[in-house]
Amino acid sequence: MNPNQVLGEENPFEAMHARFDLAASKLGLDPGLYQILRTPDRELTVAIPVVLDDGSVQVFTGYRVQHSMARGPAKGGIRFDPNVTLDEVRALSAWMTWKCAVVNVPFGGGKGGVVCDPSKMSPGELERVTRRYIANILDIIGPDRDIPAPDMGTNGQVMAWIMDTYAMHAREASTSVVTGKPVELGGSLGRIEATGRGLQISVRESLQRMEVDPATCSAAVQGAGNVGQVTAQFLHQMGVKIMAISDITGALVNEKGLDIKALRAHLAKHRTLDGFDQGDRMTNSELLELPVDILIPAATENVITSRNAENIRAKLLVEGANGPVTAAADKILEGKGIFIVPDILANAGGVTVSYFEWVQDRQGYFWSHDEVDGRLEVMMVKAINDVLDMAERFEVSKRIAAYMLGIDRVAKITKLRGIYA
Ligand code: NAD
Repeated sequence: MNPNQVLGEENPFEAMHARFDLAASKLGLDPGLYQILRTPDRELTVAIPVVLDDGSVQVFTGYRVQHSMARGPAKGGIRFDPNVTLDEVRALSAWMTWKCAVVNVPFGGGKGGVVCDPSKMSPGELERVTRRYIANILDIIGPDRDIPAPDMGTNGQVMAWIMDTYAMHAREASTSVVTGKPVELGGSLGRIEATGRGLQISVRESLQRMEVDPATCSAAVQGAGNVGQVTAQFLHQMGVKIMAISDITGALVNEKGLDIKALRAHLAKHRTLDGFDQGDRMTNSELLELPVDILIPAATENVITSRNAENIRAKLLVEGANGPVTAAADKILEGKGIFIVPDILANAGGVTVSYFEWVQDRQGYFWSHDEVDGRLEVMMVKAINDVLDMAERFEVSKRIAAYMLGIDRVAKITKLRGIYA
């Protein structure tokens, strides 16, 4: 067993299963399909030997899990983080399956992870880890098999190395093997902002249903990476006051509202909130309990559990991160009447534009920024309405409704395809 293995409430795979079971029972899912969809299709663990800058050798561990390829090639990010576990990657890959189905893109679900700390590695070490990891999972990825993308700790540069490593072996350009690439290398305009754009649309549509004017709202954002930073900026543009934001070093709070432009300029230069002096510091846990209207967890899993759910004061919780709320915390938050837009819906903007990137690479024809944003808007709004309708029709939470929608779509295709014997 991985020494980092997490047990109980905070095990993400158990958290996924808890929601899956509830949604499956509400759908009356056929027992055979229940077994098929509950289990990942394929799991690969690889050893990644790398020569470090000091000449020593370190063997890292990497995973790639393909939860389902029923609806199309597996699709999902690659995470570089010291706390990556196999169960986390399993959960993240299943969430990708449901997410792709919720926004109705023709992909299955996959996810990868390498147990490493990119903040402590040189660019050369990072490149060698990336290339060896990709070489070791090469047989199971590909434009029609499994298409990686960025996640925590990885970025466009890492995607460029992935594309290049694959292309060297395939002896062809293969831009569509990975998404989230730099635009110069077949990336899509609007991909960097896509997850934040999808979160903005989720907030806007939710506030509309709640009959609340964004200009009267305050927000706290946990995480100042790709998702957190961009979401903060888009919410700020909607008139929302961003009262707090955080990164791994802690939170920064300003009751009058943070200057997002200055904050992003600081982050671009220093990559940490440390040294940005336009607010007071507090902990990440304290940020979650601030008396704001909108809370956006956009860092990592299990930040709202049965221990702190009672203290959450936001009225609208929109999940930028995957799995930020545990299944036990769901019940407490629902009891408090908090409007929750679940991860597999709220943060689906990223995979939607990844799909657009894959389509553009295969066409060899690239769309304008406006075209990307316009198509994303249509697909996100449709998915939000589908989930809200499902929640009303079955009298379930929005999270269970999103699972039901995703599971039902994957189940129908699995049934159509039949079981190969
Ligand atoms: P990132 O690496 O760019 O940023 C992560 C941020 O969270 C950083 O500010 C980091 O300092 C902070 N952080 C990390 N660990 C933390 C901890 N334990 N406590 C508090 N803060 C912590 O990652 P990202 O791409 O912004 O992804 C963030 C979340 O959003 C992840 O859960 C990811 O799976 C999810 N997500 C990302 C995308 C995408 O397109 N990048 C799409 C969908 C979902």
